[in-house]
Amino acid sequence: KFSYQHRLGIGSGNPTGKIPLGLKRKGLRIVVTGGAGFVGSHLVDRLIARGDSVIVVDNFFTGRKENVMHHFGNPNFELIRHDVVEPLLLEVDQIYHLACPASPVHYKFNPVKTIISFFTRLAKRVGARFLLTSTSEVYGDPLQHPQKETYWGNVNPIGVRSCYDEGKRTAETLTMDYHRGAEVEVRIARIFNTYGPRMCIDDGRVVSNFVAQALRKEPLTVYGDGKQTRSFQYVSDLVEGLMRLMEGEHVGPFNLGNPGEFTMLELAEVVQETIDPNARIEFRPNTEDDPHKRKPDITRAKELLGWEPKVSLRKGLPLMVSDFRQRIFGDHKEGSS
Ligand code: NAD
Ligand code: UDP
Repeated sequence: KFSYQHRLGIGSGNPTGKIPLGLKRKGLRIVVTGGAGFVGSHLVDRLIARGDSVIVVDNFFTGRKENVMHHFGNPNFELIRHDVVEPLLLEVDQIYHLACPASPVHYKFNPVKTIISFFTRLAKRVGARFLLTSTSEVYGDPLQHPQKETYWGNVNPIGVRSCYDEGKRTAETLTMDYHRGAEVEVRIARIFNTYGPRMCIDDGRVVSNFVAQALRKEPLTVYGDGKQTRSFQYVSDLVEGLMRLMEGEHVGPFNLGNPGEFTMLELAEVVQETIDPNARIEFRPNTEDDPHKRKPDITRAKELLGWEPKVSLRKGLPLMVSDFRQRIFGDHKEGSS
């Protein structure tokens, strides 16, 4: 049986999988499922830049070839159109598992898909380290604020969001069971709301909605009274956190998010300041089971991964706006950021 240490050629006497000082790190072979999506494509950029070989596995449900097209022709990059619920045998060192419909509009469209993936089994078979991208949604409508990783959450098991929330909770359970039962090396990230260039323009998430609406001179649609909160993280901070988690010694789960908390009305104001002070706000009925507040406690990631976000909403939003402007109004090559 292959172990992760064996794979990296650093001997089984090294339980952490860390590469000893003085040994040059060889390029790794890494799968990124969902690598043609928003977060995945930014992660792929960083891994390729670091000198690793990357295989993206994506069925293009919400991802786009344009997000990774700039790597076509690079011998260290491969793209496979494939659904992660189906088996696929690949010899790799690390698996970043991001494939999953992540926006409410998409996961409500195809709920069952959220749960199952073949890739935990692949990790066991080839001795790869497996990183699951879970979500702050595992906390549901939280009764603890801010949320620590030790909080078990408050999730409605039969609601319209349950396929996603419970799907990710089940994925965490399976990941930990593979870790305990089959000694697979795993890492779990609980990602809080993330935004940035290459987000799907019309996937219904609040930041992409507001930015696209302001650019198109449409009213910003605030759901409910707009007093519900979220904490918004810029994508480069998340990618840094995911890589530190994968390379580090701790299984997690780790909250990866920016503690800067905003009501949806405050977010609308930041969008107005950034794009168009005259943008109107229009109130719409809220969706069912919408969590009232969400803010990460990131003490654990700070202490154990040496990680914390660096880009505030006011700094990150303009970077996303220029990408959206170019994609909505044309006049540039898609996928760049
Ligand atoms: P995204 O929709 O841009 O990316 C998901 C990618 O997975 C897409 O490229 C899609 O085509 C692919 N995919 C979906 N189902 C697939 C399947 N069955 N087989 C193969 N590929 C499939 O979303 P994202 O925002 O980049 O999210 C990436 C991961 O991070 C997801 O697991 C998501 O749940 C998690 N996450 C994201 C956020 C966020 O705010 N962006 C927050 C919490 C968790
Ligand atoms: N929301 C909003 N207007 C929109 C889209 C979403 O006010 O056009 C609200 C939504 O009700 C929720 C918050 O923004 O309270 C975040 O929604 P999103 O779908 O982006 O993320 P999630 O609910 O998964 O955290």
